[in-house]
Amino acid sequence: MRVFSAPQGNFSDNDIAAAADILKAGGVVAFPTETVYGLGARYDCETAIKKIFAAKGRPADNPLIVHIAHPEELAMVAQSISPQEEKLMLYFWPGPLTLVLTKNPALSGLVTAGLSTVGVRMPSHPVALRLITAVGVPIVAPSANLSGRPSPTAARHVAEDLAGSIDALCDGGETTVGLESTVARVYFDRIVVLRPGSVTRAMLQEATQLPVVLATHADGVPEAPGMKYVHYAPRAEIFLYLGDQISAMTAALDNEAKVAVIAHSDTLELLPSTVRKFTLGARGCADLAARKLYAYLREADGMGIERILVEGIVPEGLGEAVMNRLRKAASRVIGEQK
Ligand code: AMP
Ligand code: MG
Repeated sequence: MRVFSAPQGNFSDNDIAAAADILKAGGVVAFPTETVYGLGARYDCETAIKKIFAAKGRPADNPLIVHIAHPEELAMVAQSISPQEEKLMLYFWPGPLTLVLTKNPALSGLVTAGLSTVGVRMPSHPVALRLITAVGVPIVAPSANLSGRPSPTAARHVAEDLAGSIDALCDGGETTVGLESTVARVYFDRIVVLRPGSVTRAMLQEATQLPVVLATHADGVPEAPGMKYVHYAPRAEIFLYLGDQISAMTAALDNEAKVAVIAHSDTLELLPSTVRKFTLGARGCADLAARKLYAYLREADGMGIERILVEGIVPEGLGEAVMNRLRKAASRVIGEQK
């Protein structure tokens, strides 16, 4: 694996050109986006696309998101864009919003897992945009982790999971959002969020004046195909505590098991100093939780932690996305959301 390194993200044009050459030649390259690191391949190179699925151990029925750098590239992968979809692109691109659109018939079914739709976004990370521009065609890129592991928010996470099986890694430092993009589909009378992210339901509603609902298995609207798999899971088991649960958390700090706690700073202060602590910062702001969650889960694994007690956050705005990932990762949920 070739490594290009610029922790501040300021890669030389030569490095970008070299990474782009690997992609052009059918290689797979990991690179930073504002959400998490992606593992990229040319959208029109089936051998490279198969290499992505193999490297990640990704189920073939989980479609890949296409990343573009210029509006003109959209027509290469999607068609029949509606006025509301166009409006969302104008509002949120470049940025962490993936739109599920009608697929261009010429696009390989390997990308879309055989679906008639394709997920597309224009990332805002300058390295991602420079790389796609240098390749000159859209880049398909799922998160650059082994399937089922927490998504990578730093280059070392990518190396941990994929060092032996990818062609190159662009180390551009830590990602800023820390959670995967919002995935949304626009219908004539509403927007369905298939995966919550940092482009929130309130933001989508404000842009379109359409009602915005979260897909759930319960209401018959399927989530994004990828959401049915075990996701975001560290090796340690996760217990998720909702509401005021300090006494329950304290009681669970059994000295025998190797336990860590991820919680708001004020909660951590009340717990014994012997326990390994990771902070979610102040109550009421989800930014730090989103940015650090996956890194904390991986760090706990590195320390041989067997159980992680996580304090829930308010599931509004970005907090909705954080809680979506935590609920999927948790083996037990204690208490109820107020
Ligand atoms: P990842 O790139 O690893 O963050 O995963 C991409 C997510 O987007 C997965 O949950 C996919 O199921 C979802 N996705 C990609 N394309 C589509 C599509 N055409 N329809 C619905 N969900 C999609
Ligand atoms: Mg993923």
